[in-house]
Amino acid sequence: MVRIDGTAVAAKVIDEIKVRVATLAARGVTPGLAVVLVGDNPASRAYVRSKDKKAAELGLFSLKKELPTTTSQDELLRLVAELNADPRIHGILVQSPPPPHIDESAIVRAIDPRKDVDGFHPENVAKLALEDPTGFVPCTPLGCLRLLEAAGIATAGKHAVVVGRSMIVGKPMALLLMRRGTDATVTIAHSRTRDLPAITRQADILIAALGKPLFLTAEHVKEGAVVIDVGINRISDSAHPKGYRLVGDVDFESVAPRCAAITPVPGGVGPMTIAMLMQNCVQAAEATPAG
Ligand code: NDP
Repeated sequence: MVRIDGTAVAAKVIDEIKVRVATLAARGVTPGLAVVLVGDNPASRAYVRSKDKKAAELGLFSLKKELPTTTSQDELLRLVAELNADPRIHGILVQSPPPPHIDESAIVRAIDPRKDVDGFHPENVAKLALEDPTGFVPCTPLGCLRLLEAAGIATAGKHAVVVGRSMIVGKPMALLLMRRGTDATVTIAHSRTRDLPAITRQADILIAALGKPLFLTAEHVKEGAVVIDVGINRISDSAHPKGYRLVGDVDFESVAPRCAAITPVPGGVGPMTIAMLMQNCVQAAEATPAG
């Protein structure tokens, strides 16, 4: 069994990005990323902190905007409009989920699609479906694909089963796997799928993105499958100094012995998501006309 090391692959991606950042610097361009957080969700705060830190490490211009939970939809839309117009900013990300009084899809639609480095704007969703490479692809599924490539896993003609149909992970993952050049045969499962184990056991490549801690066990996985575990779940653990630990959607212990390759949690998909965000931000800066 190969344990796919997301931290190592992400470090390689970051090295590639450094070269692109240096090329942009020679043109007088510094990629700029604005990360907006509304409210004080601790997991969101941690994600925003690590995105801001990684951007700064790479020499990007990084703008972190932390707004109180009471921020209105109009205030947030005004900030997005300012960032759309700010020439220092090439990428804008509003951390999900916002507080319940904010209409997330209205915020996503307000972001200039050329600065939508999360790849959530309808224009970028359409470009992914159209296989138009000028769009932005959501970071987590893009990271999963890169992990498969880095581990040397062939996808053409393979049966990939994606468990989860969210716009952030499941759907774009399925589109990426089926597009020309990747060429997997894709099945998407969700909470209404009947007899999930019978479906997932057909997978040569199983992508777990359902948000249920340790849900997929040995009975869901065929011998020799490749498993990519997108899940990040906190479960309480009194033995851990923080009182909790992170686990995936896959029960690593029972599943790993059956697999040809598997990603751990943490240290699998997580670090790739941030690396891909940086890559998208650099792509946005590269696409900006000079002057
Ligand atoms: P969502 O809650 O938006 O979507 C979960 C999906 O899983 C839904 O489509 C849901 O089906 C499906 N599902 C739920 N329960 C079952 C079940 N019992 N059987 C089959 N399908 C089920 O989650 P996200 O897509 O945003 O995230 C998924 C996981 O990935 C989470 O653990 C999240 O924390 C993690 N994540 C990790 C990232 C990373 O960087 N590694 C980034 C983003 C997310 P239905 O549509 O029918 O409700």
